[in-house]
Amino acid sequence: MRRTRLRPVSQKRLDERDERDAVRETVLRRQMFRCAAPGAFGLRCGGRLEVHELQGRGVRPGGHLDEANCIALCATHHRYVTDHPSAARIAGLRFESWEELPSRSVTIMAAGNGYKTQTGTQDKGAKDDGDGASAEH
Ligand SMILES: [Zn+2]
Repeated sequence: MRRTRLRPVSQKRLDERDERDAVRETVLRRQMFRCAAPGAFGLRCGGRLEVHELQGRGVRPGGHLDEANCIALCATHHRYVTDHPSAARIAGLRFESWEELPSRSVTIMAAGNGYKTQTGTQDKGAKDDGDGASAEH
């Protein structure tokens, strides 16, 4: 009699979650734990920082694991961007599948907000309070 070993199907998801956490931390650090669009759409920032995908998962599979495709938005702006795709596009916070993702989009957006960001992978070794990300006012 043969026994079939059940494969740990959740392992892939676990790995992805780790990867996702790493992307999240990189993105938040890159923006110094601040919303990428403070004051945008006439809204004040509020809530926790969330990771927003410039190209959604539907049009860019795996995009949520690509830090170049991710920016951090506070809950308020994230919700607005999600609910108002047209406005989000104009603001450079949303891109369609056929659009080239500007590699420096995050830097450009952040430059107007007085803080410096950089694209690319940062040192993941230095870890501190990556978890306690809260939105700035
Ligand atoms: Zn915000």
